[in-house]
Amino acid sequence: MTSRNPLPHPCVRAALCALFLGAAGASFAADPVAADPVAVPPGADTAAQAPSEPAAPAATPGRPEVSPALMLRAAKLVYDRDVARARAANSIDETSDSSRRIHATAQRLIVQAIRVSPTVPWTLALTVENEAMPVAYCLPGGRIIASSALVDRMRLTDAELAAVLAHAMGHAIAGHDAEEAIVRLKRMPDGIAADPNRTVLNLAEILAQLVHKDPHTVDAERVADSISLDLLLRAGIDPHAAVEAWRKVARAGGTVPPSFLALNPTWSSRIDDLDAAIPAAIRAYQASLVAPPAPAAAPKEAKKRKPASG
Ligand SMILES: [Zn+2]
Repeated sequence: MTSRNPLPHPCVRAALCALFLGAAGASFAADPVAADPVAVPPGADTAAQAPSEPAAPAATPGRPEVSPALMLRAAKLVYDRDVARARAANSIDETSDSSRRIHATAQRLIVQAIRVSPTVPWTLALTVENEAMPVAYCLPGGRIIASSALVDRMRLTDAELAAVLAHAMGHAIAGHDAEEAIVRLKRMPDGIAADPNRTVLNLAEILAQLVHKDPHTVDAERVADSISLDLLLRAGIDPHAAVEAWRKVARAGGTVPPSFLALNPTWSSRIDDLDAAIPAAIRAYQASLVAPPAPAAAPKEAKKRKPASG
């Protein structure tokens, strides 16, 4: 029997975001990436910024760091490349009912992502691809690529669709890819270059590998599951939808990246774990509505992800 992680308090998640995306200390608002437009049609960016500019934490003297601004630039670069690839393949779906449902659901969740991650300038930039394989990943800062197969093939209800998207967003809220990208960048010779544009290119290369090919760890999956339950509750969606959503994910299969299942590996007790976590998630959510913010806790060091084989 595997253990279950408790649902992180919203303030803990905010601290996680600040640590993983903001470790080096630059203000998000200082970066042009954060200044996206406010409302745009499907396939383009819909920006929604944190209400106030966070204070910049101090950088470690003498040690090269990766600013959150660079991370967001790298994430935007990966997203823009993915959109360009899909556009070249004529596979962007902006008009189908499935695409509209995915966009509407993501919009509903991004409002909540902003609330639980006030230090991150979340941007909803969602592109839906007309693709037979179920795909859903969320880059640091909130840009999402999803496929119409979530609806057309998996037959997810709106609530189940929300559960899948909330899980993908949970990884971004927890900073899983951002954290791992920084670890890998620091291992690269000249990964953090004198020219910040080169650093962004290096980061983008790593991020692309992470979101396209390398599965998350089970520990990261548990954290993303917990955050997804909280996002669903905050969006007024029955969190039990996550249980059925993961049943459908398992049935749909897809062991080859970038399928959702391949990049979000499941385990034998996941459905039971999710189901059992729901009462605690509801209690934590209800407590968050009335309780003052709890002191932020330092995150546990995540286990390192292994590159995908083959
Ligand atoms: Zn996952």
